[in-house]
Amino acid sequence: MFERATASLPGGSTRTTIFSAPYPPYMARGEGIRTWDLDGNEYRDFLGNYTSLILGHAHPEVVAAVTAQVQRGSAFAAPTEIEIELAEEIRARLPSIERIRFTNSGTEATMFAIRAARAFSGRSLLAKFEGAYHGTHDTVLAWSPGVPEATSGLVIELPWADPEGVERAIAGRERELAAIIIEPVQGAGGVRAATPDFLRFLRELTDRIGALLIFDEVIAFRVGPNGAQGRLGGVRPDLTTLGKIIGGGYPSGGFGGRVEVMDQFDARRAGALVHGGTFNGNPVAAAAGLATLRHLTAARYADLERLGDRLRDGLTAALERDGLDARAGGIASIFQVFPGSSLVAPEGLTPQSALFLGLLLDGFHLAPRGMGAVSTPTTEADVDDLVAAVARRLGSMQTVAVA
Ligand code: PMP
Repeated sequence: MFERATASLPGGSTRTTIFSAPYPPYMARGEGIRTWDLDGNEYRDFLGNYTSLILGHAHPEVVAAVTAQVQRGSAFAAPTEIEIELAEEIRARLPSIERIRFTNSGTEATMFAIRAARAFSGRSLLAKFEGAYHGTHDTVLAWSPGVPEATSGLVIELPWADPEGVERAIAGRERELAAIIIEPVQGAGGVRAATPDFLRFLRELTDRIGALLIFDEVIAFRVGPNGAQGRLGGVRPDLTTLGKIIGGGYPSGGFGGRVEVMDQFDARRAGALVHGGTFNGNPVAAAAGLATLRHLTAARYADLERLGDRLRDGLTAALERDGLDARAGGIASIFQVFPGSSLVAPEGLTPQSALFLGLLLDGFHLAPRGMGAVSTPTTEADVDDLVAAVARRLGSMQTVAVA
């Protein structure tokens, strides 16, 4: 299938983040946390399409909501009630979101949030953090091939968890700064949560210099009923970007926040910001997202948290027991395994890629970089089996004992 795919798709896929050498598994089907590839191999999916499937694959309530909507029609050149219901559900969970607009992806969400901040402030400079991932549009991929230097010149990189370093990085350019964007829980950067103190510092700093504060909660929203902003000290951002779980497994995203910033998109206004999009607020994705959020009661978040803790604690205990050079991190339902530098991988592989491939052979699907998430159908036995498999795979690469 990989060979067939490469004739049509560069690298055999259509998404950089899911490629892993020598080729990614090609999936046929999923149910709960189980997936089956085209050869019939079964996996326990601890990635859930990069943390977006918080209820697992083909959850019956999501399937029912989607089926009902599909039968009523897939998209209209007109707003629908279901996107209003989804907006209301999100606003009830994230009070900083006074108004919201829906997109088709997290990339579009951060693109429009940044544009809104630039238009509102009349400034052009954006500050983002080292290790951050905000999608694939030009500004957030500054310095990448194909992004004009002029665009990259409008981006500053900030050090993580370092207030003085942040002040130094923007020194002299404070009045050019439109916004600081931060993932309150970094995903791609190696799952790590900002401290409430650091978020408070960013709030005070942006208020002082007249810049906007944007929380990118595309991944982080899943850490609790009120997202990362409800959990990490209650700092109120000016804008929040969403994606992944608000689409319930379907393509979606959103950006929202202060009414005076968001009302720039009010088409009744002269000079309103343009936010077209043939599939914006798509009713099928909205139905899936709404069914997902409604299923996510406080009790279910607590269950996810317990499973996440069991996984991190179990890994930490196994690593210590076996004297393995690795670390487990994460928050709530998100986790990450960080292999250490003393591990020795088979030739041609890194410890990280060897762990990823080894776990696939063991029937566990994580991100190639070691990130994963538990979802509501995950059981304690699934978690314990994964812990044992990770310890075994790391053990086979631990040639030198660690102290
Ligand atoms: N922001 C964050 C924090 C993300 O993790 C991602 C995707 N992993 C994005 C933005 C981009 O979202 P999408 O892939 O839906 O464009």
